[in-house]
Amino acid sequence: MSQIDAIIIGGGLAGLCCARHLHQEGLSFTLLEASDGPGGRVRTDELDGFLLDRGFQVLLTAYPEAQDVLDYDALDLCTFVPGALVRKDGQFFRISDPWREPGTWFRNFFSPIGSMADKFRLSRLRSHVLGRSIEELFDAPEMSTRQALDRYSFSPRFIEEFFRPWFGGIQLESKLNASSRMFEFIFRMMSDGDVAVPARGMGQIPAQLAAALPEGSLRLNARVQQIDGRTVTLTSGETLTAPNIVVATEGPESNRLLRVRMSIPSRSVTCLYFAAPEAPIDEPILVLGGSGRGLINNLAVMSNVSPSYAPPGQHLVCVTVVGLPTRDERSLITNISGQLKRWFGSSVTRWRFLRMYQIEHAQPVVVPLEWTQDNRIEPGLYTAGDYRATPSIQGAMESGRLAAETLLRDLRGEPDPETIDPRKRVSASGRRLRLKSTTGEEFETGEEPESEREIPD
Ligand SMILES: Cc1cc2nc3c(=O)[nH]c(=O)nc-3n(C[C@H](O)[C@H](O)[C@H](O)COP(=O)(O)OP(=O)(O)OC[C@H]3O[C@@H](n4cnc5c(N)ncnc54)[C@H](O)[C@@H]3O)c2cc1C
Repeated sequence: MSQIDAIIIGGGLAGLCCARHLHQEGLSFTLLEASDGPGGRVRTDELDGFLLDRGFQVLLTAYPEAQDVLDYDALDLCTFVPGALVRKDGQFFRISDPWREPGTWFRNFFSPIGSMADKFRLSRLRSHVLGRSIEELFDAPEMSTRQALDRYSFSPRFIEEFFRPWFGGIQLESKLNASSRMFEFIFRMMSDGDVAVPARGMGQIPAQLAAALPEGSLRLNARVQQIDGRTVTLTSGETLTAPNIVVATEGPESNRLLRVRMSIPSRSVTCLYFAAPEAPIDEPILVLGGSGRGLINNLAVMSNVSPSYAPPGQHLVCVTVVGLPTRDERSLITNISGQLKRWFGSSVTRWRFLRMYQIEHAQPVVVPLEWTQDNRIEPGLYTAGDYRATPSIQGAMESGRLAAETLLRDLRGEPDPETIDPRKRVSASGRRLRLKSTTGEEFETGEEPESEREIPD
């Protein structure tokens, strides 16, 4: 058998996009995926006719990489209504995006969520992010989302009732400590496009990417145990060799395989699905827990967004809790059901619990762009994954393409494009930020991991 050009380890979006790019450039590869399907953190299970994404997750259609790579029409995207319903003081209040939902200016400005001044600040924030390129947004000094919101002078109450559950649910971090660059980027993506899911679940995204790969190039249930030089050993004992290896696993696993001693803290999330005979709300809109009380951060009736998410005559309710409050499923269901009853009344007693997902490493804690360019361990050995870019679908896809491009440049003897070391940019801003992971571990932006790296001979 002739030798393949590359081995890619990990069939999430990063690995799939790396494979796609290498394939387009005529290189041969084997993509090794440890689990029984492609997609990594973006997968959908079927249960009794319901489609359960492994954790509530959405595609922002403005993601530039997704626009380049995906066939949106074939995904049959179904969109959320811009805005949210915020639960506060025993009622639901609507906050809309009046630029994208014409006719809602009046209602929005008089909604009790946020003061009039907050709504003007929202409009200023929108102009700010839309008036800058994505590069400029990521070039801005890094700080916490909370600090950025304070800089925009949003009232503490609006931050608590709206931004905390909204961005807390996106960045999986309730204290708004996550990156301000990422916050502005996401805000821009939401101002510029739709929040959507494929009609038949988020798993359709990796399925579309995997379907375009050459037959036999994706191997499932193939977990890599270790890498020695350019040889990988699977847990089955089988070995494979190629002149190029791309490690596209989650950050912590990548560090294990590459023997890198650098911790990549995780953001975790819990998601519970319920079947409901009637939908508790009529619209495809995100519901946010604005009071700060109770475990529910956000909720969506997925069957309102795409009817395919539930069998005929039933509805699918998806509840998101930031973090892993407990591993005890029964106590969590009791707690959540109590809060749901307070929100939607006694009809909740007729809901049926379907399944709970607890995802420990849902997102890495990273400072966007800090590692983006740094995907070459040495010529022939590369890394990809959301932890190399931004913790998002966009970041994972982009990192996969960037790793493939670096590999191709090395093969062709081409120089790297000139870039500013993003770490210097962080330091130059004088804003080294101490971040704390959900596990309590602290680390600082701009930390230099290279000195700690041990690469086997
Ligand atoms: C619940 C949840 C909600 C999210 N919400 C959003 C959202 O709304 N919008 C958004 O943009 N992003 C969201 N994200 C983030 C986004 O899904 C991820 O950033 C992205 O999917 C990461 O892709 P990846 O390829 O880098 O890593 P992964 O998807 O983790 O892929 C890594 C792959 O490597 C495989 N692997 C691991 N070890 C080995 C090994 N030793 N050998 C072989 N294979 C191995 C794994 O099985 C996995 O398939 C969310 C994530 C979660 C979990």
